[in-house]
Amino acid sequence: MLEALNTQPADKILALVAQFKADPRANKIDLGVGVYKDSEGKTPIMRAVKAAEQQLWEQEQTKSYVALAGDPGFADAMIGLVLGAEFPRAGVAAAATPGGTGAVRQAFELIQMANQDAKVWVSDPTWPNHLSILKHLAMPTRQYRYFDAQTGAVNLSGMLEDLKKAKPGDIVLLHGCCHNPTGANLRLTDWEHVISLMQERGLTPMVDIAYQGFGDGLEADATATRVIAKSMPETIIAASCSKNFGIYRERTGILMVVAGNDKSIRVAQDNLAYLNRQNFSFPPDHGARLVTMVLGDKALRADWEAELESVRTGMLALRSQLSAELQRLSGSDRFGFLADHRGMFSRLGTTPEKVAQLREDHGIYMVGDSRMNIAGLNAQTIPTLAAAIIACDI
Ligand code: PMP
Repeated sequence: MLEALNTQPADKILALVAQFKADPRANKIDLGVGVYKDSEGKTPIMRAVKAAEQQLWEQEQTKSYVALAGDPGFADAMIGLVLGAEFPRAGVAAAATPGGTGAVRQAFELIQMANQDAKVWVSDPTWPNHLSILKHLAMPTRQYRYFDAQTGAVNLSGMLEDLKKAKPGDIVLLHGCCHNPTGANLRLTDWEHVISLMQERGLTPMVDIAYQGFGDGLEADATATRVIAKSMPETIIAASCSKNFGIYRERTGILMVVAGNDKSIRVAQDNLAYLNRQNFSFPPDHGARLVTMVLGDKALRADWEAELESVRTGMLALRSQLSAELQRLSGSDRFGFLADHRGMFSRLGTTPEKVAQLREDHGIYMVGDSRMNIAGLNAQTIPTLAAAIIACDI
């Protein structure tokens, strides 16, 4: 039987990790995989998470199953974090999932169960796993223009023009904040245009929010998601706790469905639990419980927010430094977009050949589409990167 299987394409980013490890050069720089790193290149456990973990170890009395949709306390806490404390809880169905990826996967499955013909519109480019999962599920997919390589900003008119071709019932997949892989984001006024178009054309938004707190702050990063959820009759939200709580390997995420009527919420809740049951039964609890403890305890929450804020401002400082250094070396403002981007990533907007040249000649590793993990930099490596970008004539 097994010989009938085809080998699967290697994950490009994970292949890059292996290539980086094998590179003997001491001054190599890893801007590949999407994991936050501090100035020493470490991915620390956040203080509040560690403290919650200690409390949990002391207090937890059982490892028995929780519930198919996970701990309701986790759902309440995450609805508060993403949609805001005032958001009516009764208007949201929610289930814990293994990471944001689990939420994305099951959001697609929910869409497929509801409407086989729905096309999912994704940004060009988007997180490659969106496309990969959609392909795996054989779901009809379309791309809308998003990134303008000339300006490094969002091509709003191209995006709107493409989305005008969507049919009622189609799904628009949007990054709630900190777009991956480009770092380019819509402004609030731009979001309003997108929302009006979705309303006019009867489209359903699916928001993937994986970096809340990494862009302009915890509240600001959720603004677009909140406006969408308030404005549209139905909204699907896939949220990840991997980055903002630094609990990547705990696999903590949540799938939410926001709808205006009680019957829709009841049936959505039922289907979210059903999907968990089919795919893995009970979702992982450890990370979800830590998140619930941190968000529910005043002191832990304040400490978490403070640490997250220093992560965010640290990345912003790296952006300004890189943009300023490139301005100094190039004598132009053409890299100003790096300071305007938000989140962990920026797309430099250059060719795969130049990306290969940066790797081969300068030991600088970024993803082939020229996505850089800004958190892979520090004050010492920024001048090296900037000089290499200029030397490669980018
Ligand atoms: N969505 C986007 C856009 C992401 O970048 C990521 C993480 N790479 C995820 C979802 C899911 O992350 P995880 O499954 O690790 O929570």
